[in-house]
Amino acid sequence: MSTPHPHIVVMKFGGTSVEDATAIQRTASIVASRAQKGLSPVVVVSAMAKVTDQLLACAAAAFAGRGDRDVAFEISARLRTRHIDTASQLASGDRLDALFAIIHRDFDVLDELLHGIAALGELTPRTNDLVVSFGERLSSVMVAAAFAEQGMASIHIDARTVIITNDHHGKAAPIEHAIEAALTELVLPLVDEGKIPVMGGFIASTPEGTTTTLGRGGSDYTAALVGGGLHAGAIEVWTDVNGIMTTDPRICPDALRVKTISFEEAAELAYFGAKVLHPATILPAVQKNIPVWVLNSRNPQNEGTKITAVPAPCASPFKCIAAKKRLTIIDIVASRMLLAHGFLKAVFDVFDKHQCAIDMVSTSEVSISVTVDSNEALPAICAELRQLADVSYEGAKALICMVGEDIRGHAGIAAQVFTAVQHVNIRMISQGASEINMSFMIDEQDVEEAVRSLHTKFFAAPDETVFDVEARVVTA
Ligand code: ASP
Ligand code: MG
Repeated sequence: MSTPHPHIVVMKFGGTSVEDATAIQRTASIVASRAQKGLSPVVVVSAMAKVTDQLLACAAAAFAGRGDRDVAFEISARLRTRHIDTASQLASGDRLDALFAIIHRDFDVLDELLHGIAALGELTPRTNDLVVSFGERLSSVMVAAAFAEQGMASIHIDARTVIITNDHHGKAAPIEHAIEAALTELVLPLVDEGKIPVMGGFIASTPEGTTTTLGRGGSDYTAALVGGGLHAGAIEVWTDVNGIMTTDPRICPDALRVKTISFEEAAELAYFGAKVLHPATILPAVQKNIPVWVLNSRNPQNEGTKITAVPAPCASPFKCIAAKKRLTIIDIVASRMLLAHGFLKAVFDVFDKHQCAIDMVSTSEVSISVTVDSNEALPAICAELRQLADVSYEGAKALICMVGEDIRGHAGIAAQVFTAVQHVNIRMISQGASEINMSFMIDEQDVEEAVRSLHTKFFAAPDETVFDVEARVVTA
């Protein structure tokens, strides 16, 4: 087990932070500012914005064959041009020539792969991983070169030599001890020499060297694995928002930035706005007590949101109010079976068969209500449920979820919540076992009003140690 390295900061930049030459240069100055502070950055980058989707589309088009084959090569040609154009704005001389050579070589390989997929009419998960890996392989090489061009001591690392996984293609599971060993052997000595390692997120390889990926959005996971493996002092996830907000600023213009949130709270919110990051992916960091910061690369002065294992004390019961629309409530009235033994299992088996995830459940003596994302399988699901019970369903519902560690022990909190939304028709109420989440269902059309009323009620006098109150004063 390696020793802690508090001076190491793992900095992860998402697709929008490397989407073009301007963004990459902005990224370079953010990394340089950390190095100037005496920190040792280790950089993880996503593919340029949208590239992952386009590579997946390429593979799918090649597989579909016939006319779509041309589509595959068109997409690949456009991607080649985009990378070449970006590179030409980032580097010069020999460095640029080297970059051009790598980009052309990689796209030649990609085109060969696409020919192979089309010729065989076969697209295995393994080949799909190989195709999609080019996004991060190329972005990381380009970012490392751009940093060097700015005089930074960057060095490119192929993430596939460090992030070792099993062979579950499409969503491979990391082998943490192998990763830690590789980081200690390959990355740590470079950091000690004052170098800034730059690697792609998302991509990995098996111990035998076959390319794998960690699943969509997997670059955050890479950052957490690298931070955890190096026992870094912090992980910074650079995105294009000012961290986590008390609620959606489009609904409430006076939404506040949350300065600090616990891992559990962030996890409750993930379901509503995976936009920021999916907490499961930062678990390797949280387990080692490494704070994860969510920061805005377009506004690097902003302090963002710090996610920690142990919550900071907060005078307000709630940290965030989230809403999710396009939900359906299904009411299952078991008059015939009166919730007989095995009834719930039979009900849930129907959802399971249709691979339909249930969000919320509430029960009475004779009925259960469940909520699901509105989807095409609903009529079929309800038809099957009707063999067990009386069933009705209603769409255009929304879930309001209030999250906060300090709900625990706040007597009378439910009464305050429901007083704030007394003019709104409330359908199902639930407080999860974690006790840090209070949720209820309303009609979709009432979301704006409910969120505003709740926000006014609970964030009128926010705790300044947890919420960015100054920003509100400035914009008011
Ligand atoms: N580029 C990958 C994706 O779009 C991984 C990531 O960006 O996190 O899913
Ligand atoms: Mg992401």
